[in-house]
Amino acid sequence: MESQYNAAEIEQKWQRTWTELGLDKTQEDSEKPKFYALSMFPYPSGNLHMGHVRNYVITDVIARLKRMQGYRVLHPMGWDAFGLPAENAAIDRGIPPAKWTNQNIAQMKKQLQQLGISLDWSREVTTCSPDYYKWTQWIFLQFLKAGLAYQKEAAVNWDPVDQTVLANEQVDSEGRSWRSGAKVERKMLRQWFFKITDYAEQLLNDLDKLSGWPERVKLMQANWIGKSVGAYLEFPIVGMEEKIGVFTTRPDTVYGVTYLVLAPEHPLTPKVTTPDRKESVEAFIKEVASESEIERTAEDKPKRGILTGGRAINPFNGEEIPILIADYVLYEYGTGAVMGVPAHDTRDFKFAKENNLSIKTVIVPEGEDASKPLEAAYTDPGIMVNSGQFDGKPSTEGKAAIIEYAEKQSYGKARVQYRLRDWLISRQRYWGAPIPVIHCPSCGTVPVPESDLPVKLPESIKFTGRGPSPLTQLEDWVNVPCPSCGEPAKRETDTMDTFIDSSWYFLRYTDASNDGKAFVLDRVNDWMAVDQYVGGIEHAILHLLYSRFFTKVLRDRGLLNWDEPFERLLTQGMVQGITYKNPNTGKYIQASAVNPEHPKDPETGEILSVFYEKMSKSKYNGVDPQQVLAKYGADTARMFILFKAPPEKDLEWDDADVEGQFRFLNRVWRLVTEFAEKPPVKGKEKSKIPLRQQGRSLNPKSKIQKDLRRATHTAIKEISEDLEGEYQFNTAVSELMKLSNALSDAKCLDSPVYAEGIETLIKLMAPFAPHIAEQLWHRLGHVDSVHQQAWPKFDPSALVVDEITLVIQIMGKTRGTIQVPANSDKQALEQYARKSDVAKRYIEGKEVKKVIVVPGKLVNFVVAN
Ligand SMILES: [Zn+2]
Repeated sequence: MESQYNAAEIEQKWQRTWTELGLDKTQEDSEKPKFYALSMFPYPSGNLHMGHVRNYVITDVIARLKRMQGYRVLHPMGWDAFGLPAENAAIDRGIPPAKWTNQNIAQMKKQLQQLGISLDWSREVTTCSPDYYKWTQWIFLQFLKAGLAYQKEAAVNWDPVDQTVLANEQVDSEGRSWRSGAKVERKMLRQWFFKITDYAEQLLNDLDKLSGWPERVKLMQANWIGKSVGAYLEFPIVGMEEKIGVFTTRPDTVYGVTYLVLAPEHPLTPKVTTPDRKESVEAFIKEVASESEIERTAEDKPKRGILTGGRAINPFNGEEIPILIADYVLYEYGTGAVMGVPAHDTRDFKFAKENNLSIKTVIVPEGEDASKPLEAAYTDPGIMVNSGQFDGKPSTEGKAAIIEYAEKQSYGKARVQYRLRDWLISRQRYWGAPIPVIHCPSCGTVPVPESDLPVKLPESIKFTGRGPSPLTQLEDWVNVPCPSCGEPAKRETDTMDTFIDSSWYFLRYTDASNDGKAFVLDRVNDWMAVDQYVGGIEHAILHLLYSRFFTKVLRDRGLLNWDEPFERLLTQGMVQGITYKNPNTGKYIQASAVNPEHPKDPETGEILSVFYEKMSKSKYNGVDPQQVLAKYGADTARMFILFKAPPEKDLEWDDADVEGQFRFLNRVWRLVTEFAEKPPVKGKEKSKIPLRQQGRSLNPKSKIQKDLRRATHTAIKEISEDLEGEYQFNTAVSELMKLSNALSDAKCLDSPVYAEGIETLIKLMAPFAPHIAEQLWHRLGHVDSVHQQAWPKFDPSALVVDEITLVIQIMGKTRGTIQVPANSDKQALEQYARKSDVAKRYIEGKEVKKVIVVPGKLVNFVVAN
């Protein structure tokens, strides 16, 4: 008998069995109900990190469980393979992006296979491969046909030294280029957008359909969409025809407007600026132009503004008010202008104080008047004052009344506004799907005919990182005849945002090898929606919102029949490593250089701070999955990850706990091996009869056997419940440990009850530690796969406790215990107690004055001395 199991050997062997039995392919046309289990696909960066491992192990347990529960399961994997790092590798090291990407994919695929993730690799998708991006381009054309793709001028990050457009990730926190170090400028370029704002209302309302999503994620999406209900009001400019339009959610405060603010980029800014203010206004505009949107709107940053000299009229009361420009008002958002109501808005109050603007109270708490000067903005509802005909009205009613009046007087109207803006999808980079349009001097923008797709990315490119996208420099590629009139025309050289690739990949998996279509209706409708989606919370907004948007657009084009792509969503927590940091220098120290008992800086001797933080290279706190696999095997890594924390919580890596799981698997190994190798007892049928036939007819003989059977069925019940709904893998693993302990304690290896316990333990373990479970299953003499077994069902009768332990007390002091039938009544309990040896010893010959019976617990005899 081996005392320790050989993980490496078992895991290699498993890989072969899995394929030989055909379990690596999705069952397409079975009568079984479907289950679509999906992990967010990774960017192929080179190696799996622990965050990936956790993500894929969680989904794998669910996929394996569902197979055993009788579902046909779709569990695919692919690669989100376009994007900046491959292009950077090309610039830095001269490796073509495709080659770099494919090397990384091969490496990560090998690691996924080592982990025993039960994926159907025949449906693998790679977004940078022409057979995938052909359909990404086709979908772009669907958006174009639907009027949901359009071009307009928009700001980009421009590196004036390298003369190139930069992605946001290539601009550091000080607004400098990652390569040249130059201060990045904002430059206007003609760019492509998707009209996601057309779907804002649906995207918001349909959040209510997502009962299987975390509330937190739904709230983040709702805030991102940012619906506000209010009014659009127009303020005439003194001495001009034009009016300034603003959006407000507080029309009830309109009589308190004491100034207007325009975005510096607003086209009216130069018009309203008076000659004496021109110089200062222009200087201010230039200053603001170098700031990013985030800098301009940051909560903690003081808001800066400047008078233009221009004045407007509040149409409600005829008052003249100053027009300013300020950094916090963005032209791209709303109307690019806001009304200032300092008395009733906290930000406006602060801004008015700093800029010496007047403050006028128009709402007061009930029973007060407006005579007191305000020390802060009053933002609660109250009674309207200084508001003309509306005086005395509750402000809650004032909103509707003001809008009605504004509409009558043509001052404005009711309006709903969203924070969500259209999605800028074009990138001035090489490594992405080319946007399939051709620009013709006579016909304008012409879509590439579907029969000419894919528009392939040209190969053998020189990457310098300077100048415009390499695509613009390829004359042969750029210059093509117009598909419509045949005259010389030019290809679009922008590529698509990689979020487009990931907005439909879950649809492609349902029909991955179809080279005539992106997917066909009956396949996609058969598998969609995804029953369980698992991924990081960092994708709560963009990826999930874009995927929902795509689903709705494709539905409206008759390409699928679903409103929402993801039925249930699990956002797994982070994997954190122990982190050492010198609090004085802020430097992170490698764990290998630190004595964990006395963590000191090896250079300076200073005491280090020790804490857990998300694993990252820069903090030297990462654990390489490859090393854990090499030392303990995949099953231990899986068990540790599942046991250490509930899936949605952060997980603190702990070597001692990893070791603990390895020891547990070894205990199970010994337990089963010992049982399998025990010679059969004479005259008794031993374990190897299939338990399916024994089933519920098992009749445990002794208390030991009854207890063991109860432990077995309790484990089935508890683990099945832990895996419903919330996926509490950690408590499920605890239950596996309890069952293994019960088996060790039972020592009734000859009984069918023991055999049932062993087989159940292996089946329950199969989704968690698939390799060892398969090997132990075969040890019991089975030739099929444990993964093909039905998930065990518990026998309620086995859970019934039919005997209890009754405590016998004399004068309140415990003198012993006896076993009695669980359903005994008070009278019976007294009789059992009187007949017991304990009672005989202590009360024989004495007068019993009183007997106290606590049903299910104890009998206490009060005797005379
Ligand atoms: Zn043309």
